[in-house]
Amino acid sequence: MTLQIRTSDEDGQRIVWFEDQSSDLSGVIALDSLALGPAAGGCRFWHYDDPEDMLRDARRLARGMSYKNAMAGLPLGGGKSVIQRPRGPFDREALFRAFGRVLDELRGDYLTAEDVGTSPRDMEIARAVSPFVLGLPANGTTAGGDPSPWTALGVFLCIEHALARRGIALAGSQIAVQGLGNVGAGLCRTLHDHGARLIVADVHGHAVERLLADVPAEVVLAEDIHRSAVDLFAPCALGGGLNPETIPHIQARLVVGAANNQLASTSDDEHLSSRGILYAPDYIVNAGGIINVAAEYLGNQQGEVRDRVRRIPDRLAAVLDRAEATGQSPSRVADAMALDLIGAATPGQRSPA
Ligand code: NAD
Repeated sequence: MTLQIRTSDEDGQRIVWFEDQSSDLSGVIALDSLALGPAAGGCRFWHYDDPEDMLRDARRLARGMSYKNAMAGLPLGGGKSVIQRPRGPFDREALFRAFGRVLDELRGDYLTAEDVGTSPRDMEIARAVSPFVLGLPANGTTAGGDPSPWTALGVFLCIEHALARRGIALAGSQIAVQGLGNVGAGLCRTLHDHGARLIVADVHGHAVERLLADVPAEVVLAEDIHRSAVDLFAPCALGGGLNPETIPHIQARLVVGAANNQLASTSDDEHLSSRGILYAPDYIVNAGGIINVAAEYLGNQQGEVRDRVRRIPDRLAAVLDRAEATGQSPSRVADAMALDLIGAATPGQRSPA
């Protein structure tokens, strides 16, 4: 029983550091807001050289989850867990069992599911220890299972909407997809099925090979994908890809993708707008997964998940319409709308700083 948990408060966020030496588990959970319900957000399994980077990631991702859950109309607050991926060999089962114990200590204030680096199997292991784990295999017609296909569907529908706003037909359009993981690869398949032409990149060759086995695409270097001469750029890897170094080289007129925290800072959206590039706020676009996770939590049917995911483009349209009407950037409009929803939640409960 070597589990150690340390909690602090940073700018209104509850920060929970955890460590269990016997299983090589270490990481942090950031709880951003419980105003609308328990803080919900996936578990990232990644290697960080600096614990400060890990904390920064957890905090930004947790804030994004508060906004995402509010804008998706879900009765959930925002949180995120990040587990440090051990450098050497480790016992994955022991590690995720220990993580389940951490979740139990939080007594339902935080609900987790898959994110980058974690799988439904990892969630099953943690679930054997704690009930506060979602993203488990679907049971009959009840919602559940890997949220990635729902995320990919929501991103696809938003791409269709964004292209239509610029008068571009999906069939024959050119789309660059960065990151060919669970979401990116599924998105590529659907885009290909609808006649889009693809340019793709991933830092892992095996991810590219897996995609090319059933989807034709032009492959470029991961560091060059944002420079592609395409109609739309879809970031589906990690966050921070839209920044002062990359934005001047983006040739696409639209940016719509799955990655969380695509903008390195909010001002980067203004930079995109000044270049005539329309940015669809990531947490509106990629809400499909959490909609599925929330349905699992609420015991809803899969059909309800499909209906809600199909309504994501309506929310995107509302944000983009207001951005056009006010001259504000889409991300500022979306943040303001999300904060209104969180602030209007039950008085006396916690909302983000
Ligand atoms: P994943 O780990 O399955 O895939 C990510 C892929 O990106 C991997 O193949 C990785 O090799 C690649 N990659 C990493 N850095 C890259 C780079 N610099 N250039 C090109 N490729 C790179 O993750 P995922 O589940 O597909 O999620 C993708 C993104 O979408 C993440 O930012 C995640 O937080 C976000 N997201 C995922 C979901 C979901 O349901 N899985 C929901 C909402 C948001």
